[in-house]
Amino acid sequence: MPDEIVAKKLHIPELGERGIDIPYYEIKGRREGPQLTALAGVHGTEYASIAAAREFVRDLDPDAVSGTIVVVPIVSVTSFWARSPFVVPEDGKNLNRCFPGDPNGTFTDILAHHVFETFIRGADFMVDMHCGDLPEALEPLAIFEESPVTDASREMAIAYGLGHIVHQRAELQTGGGRSYGSASQIGIPGFVAESGQKGLLERDAIDRHVAGLTNLARFVGVLDGDPWPRREVREHRGVRTLRAERAGWWESSVELGVPVEAGDLLGTLSEVWGSGVMQIRAPEAGTPLFLTTNPAVSFDGVLLGIALD
Ligand SMILES: [Zn+2]
Repeated sequence: MPDEIVAKKLHIPELGERGIDIPYYEIKGRREGPQLTALAGVHGTEYASIAAAREFVRDLDPDAVSGTIVVVPIVSVTSFWARSPFVVPEDGKNLNRCFPGDPNGTFTDILAHHVFETFIRGADFMVDMHCGDLPEALEPLAIFEESPVTDASREMAIAYGLGHIVHQRAELQTGGGRSYGSASQIGIPGFVAESGQKGLLERDAIDRHVAGLTNLARFVGVLDGDPWPRREVREHRGVRTLRAERAGWWESSVELGVPVEAGDLLGTLSEVWGSGVMQIRAPEAGTPLFLTTNPAVSFDGVLLGIALD
C-alpha cells in the first residue's frame, strides 16, 4: 500500500451502541477528473470481491490518478464480522435491496442511506463488486438496469470485461433497492460486477475483478493508461430468478454458462423427510448464470438464475 493512501472512516453515530465505522479509501489525483466509486462487501461474506478491492488499492499508483477514486472494501462491516451471508445481522434485511436508504428506517435502511449519500451521490460513475455468496456459485457477469443512463452503464459494464452482460429489463426485476439501480436513477451510471463464489478466495476470480476495476478506471478517465480493446461479451435481455415453491432439498443438474432449452431439467427439490420429488424445469430458453449450491432451501429461496438471450 503506498504510504499516502490512508483509510478514512465513515462514522455512523446512530447505528449500534457507539455507532459504527466504515473504513474506505479516497485517492485524489493531482490532476482534475471525475470520481469513480467502487463498493465491495455490500454482502459481507463475498470475499473474492472484497479481496479484489483491497488489492486494487494496495497496488494503486496515486500519481496515475486524475480526479478521485473512492474504494469501500467492506460496506457491510457487521455482516463481515458476523459472517452473515445476504443479510445484515441486526435486522435481517438485504442491504442491496435497501438503497437509497431511509434515515428513519431500521439498521440496514440507515446504513444504506449513509452509504448512498457519502459514496454514491457525489460520484460520476460507480461499480458494486460482488460474487456468489457463501452458498452460491456463478459465472462471471455484470448487470445494469434500465435508467436515464442505460447506455453509459452498459458501456461501463462491457469495459469491466466479464463474460456475460445482463441488461435487466424492468419486467424481470424482483424488487428495487439495488445500489447501482438507485445510482443510475439519479443519473450516475453504474452496474454490479460478479466474479467469485462460495466464500472462496479463488485467484482467477479475484484477478478478474482487479483487472476489470483497473480497466473501468481507465475507461472512465480516472486512471492513466489505455483501456484494453473491447472484449467479446454475451449480452442478455435480463435474468430470471427461479425460487422454491416450498422448502426442500435442492440439487441442481445444470452446468453454469451452458444454455438450456425450455422444459429442460434444471434440478430437483425433494422433501427432506419424505419421498416427494419436484422436478424444476426451465420455463424458457436461456443460460444459467448463478445457482444455490447448498441443498437446504427454504420457501421462496433462490434456486438459480437464468439469463435470457
Ligand atoms: Zn452480493
